[in-house]
Amino acid sequence: MRVFNFSPGPAALPVEVLEQARAEMLDWHGTGMSVMEMSHRGKAFISIAEQAEADLRELLAVPANYKVLFVQGGATMQFAAVPLNLSAAGQTVDYVNTGAWSKKAMSEAKRYAAVHVAADAGEPYASIPDVASWSRSPNAAYLHYTPNETIGGVEFHDIPDSGDVPLVADMSSTLLSRPIDVSKFGVIYAGAQKNIGPAGLTVVIVRDDLLGRARADIPGVLDYAAMAKEGSMLNTPPTYTWYLAGLVFQWIKRHGGLAAMGEVNRAKAAKLYAAIDGSSFYANPVAKNARSWMNVPFTLAKPDLDKTFLAEAKTAGLVTLEGHRSVGGMRASIYNAMPVAGVDALITLMQQFERTHA
Ligand SMILES: *Cc1c(COP(=O)(O)O)cnc(C)c1O
Repeated sequence: MRVFNFSPGPAALPVEVLEQARAEMLDWHGTGMSVMEMSHRGKAFISIAEQAEADLRELLAVPANYKVLFVQGGATMQFAAVPLNLSAAGQTVDYVNTGAWSKKAMSEAKRYAAVHVAADAGEPYASIPDVASWSRSPNAAYLHYTPNETIGGVEFHDIPDSGDVPLVADMSSTLLSRPIDVSKFGVIYAGAQKNIGPAGLTVVIVRDDLLGRARADIPGVLDYAAMAKEGSMLNTPPTYTWYLAGLVFQWIKRHGGLAAMGEVNRAKAAKLYAAIDGSSFYANPVAKNARSWMNVPFTLAKPDLDKTFLAEAKTAGLVTLEGHRSVGGMRASIYNAMPVAGVDALITLMQQFERTHA
């Protein structure tokens, strides 16, 4: 039996996608083999790869002057790839710190560039510093931020204006959750395992004029220009994950595209926050204008009941609700693949639990 899986990542995938993958597992479109067994240079896989890129470009309305790369190494590899591609050794780069993932991005960038913290939300990382107060470096190679902090549940609902400085965004846990204006960004990157597909694939969207700024000693597989030149096939790409991501893109298209995803996601989040705010037993610490649509942390008024809550949730078929070890409490990750019914079931459980235990 399928459960409602609130995992922050690797996260739930749409059932339709898993069913299609199962149907095509042994024999993809009459080739007599699984996508896993195909040469990445063969006609069949090239068609899968090109279709996935075309669908992603269509969904996000990616302008023609951007490359879309399908790479490995996760968002964490991009923490290094970004400074190595966009800045000279020791050059100033600006970072906005809104929580755990911003910090990881900064500590990796510090190995390659002079990181200036343009803004810091400060403990307990439950808000977004007012953009007007950011102290930006005049000569920064780029401005990096984390549109959705997956652990803290803090999300930007507007894109900051970076002027002439390329804006770089770690969109791992928010890409495809709603429409975005790609033209506002220099680089967007996202690990797949939240809202795109299985782990092992990272999507990088990079503006053409930023290609060719990489350091001479950058590893080839991290070099955006080299990867773009080879159609992301400088070496063997993560073929099966790329294929599954392609099935997810088609699933999103069948279900109305990103505008429809955004409406459903907005509604799911609004319901869950309303249930939390409407109770004196549950609490979410995040400033209302910065609450994530994708990751909703909440605490119980009696933390000694956390384990009981998780056990009762599991019995009801609701799993992976424990909060990050650094935050405690609960966290419900409600990406595109989480149906409204899953959020409704969680709210029902929360209300029942409050009645019996509060
Ligand atoms: C999950 C996540 C990462 C880390 O991704 P990896 O693929 O494990 O490297 C980085 N940033 C954000 C915002 C994330 O949600």
